[in-house]
Amino acid sequence: MSRKKIIAGNWKMNLSHSEAMQLIRDVRDWKSGFDGEVIVFPSFIYLTEAVALLKDSGVKVGAQNCSAKESGAFTGEVSAAMLSSIGVEYLIIGHSERRELFGETNEVLKEKLKVALRHPLKVVFCCGEPLDIRQAGTQEEYVSKQLEESLFALSDEDMLQVVIAYEPVWAIGSGLNATPEQAQQMHAFIRGKMAEQFGKAMALQTRILYGGSCKPDNAAALFRGADVDGGLIGGASLKANDFISIIQSV
Ligand code: PEP
Repeated sequence: MSRKKIIAGNWKMNLSHSEAMQLIRDVRDWKSGFDGEVIVFPSFIYLTEAVALLKDSGVKVGAQNCSAKESGAFTGEVSAAMLSSIGVEYLIIGHSERRELFGETNEVLKEKLKVALRHPLKVVFCCGEPLDIRQAGTQEEYVSKQLEESLFALSDEDMLQVVIAYEPVWAIGSGLNATPEQAQQMHAFIRGKMAEQFGKAMALQTRILYGGSCKPDNAAALFRGADVDGGLIGGASLKANDFISIIQSV
């Protein structure tokens, strides 16, 4: 089955306002025969303008985080409803930086998924093992638990709105990408888990992205895996040329 490819750029807490607007325009104005989805994830404060600038361009806009709460007295938080109300389409949930630096557990992520899907935002759900787990060879068990505890209670209808990103933590921002074989092996494993829980048809429809030090010079090899449906790109999404060349390598 052919799945629409996705190249997504997670800008994290980077770029001034003018740099962000320029990058949005560069990605927008770049015309190609790419028939997959391109998504950018700027900082919250640039989202309204990003949505306006990218209207009808085919480039989609996502947010990097949202509150697990619906609304109310949660100073400093941003709700899924707010994001949806300004035209944001996607949301990253479960990025390893949120898990590690902000203590987001599988349980919290499950709550975020529920609130996001209710509004309805599409979700890029990140999973992946840290280095000690990879060294111990227990990455499959580790990722299984992440999927089971956050995703497996979803209905089929909700699961259709979720893209999975496999991001080995040791590869994120480290310059040390997974080998194409390691990526494909984990992607096939994740697809197998999806089949066990949601059935084969759903597993075959689910897009699974690779993330972790993906760059123009390694993207083509990483994306060749049969179960690799594109990439979630961090550092290399901040430079228009690099991001565009990664899109071209799909
Ligand atoms: C990420 O943070 O999702 C990511 C993949 O980062 P990088 O590409 O910089 O490793």
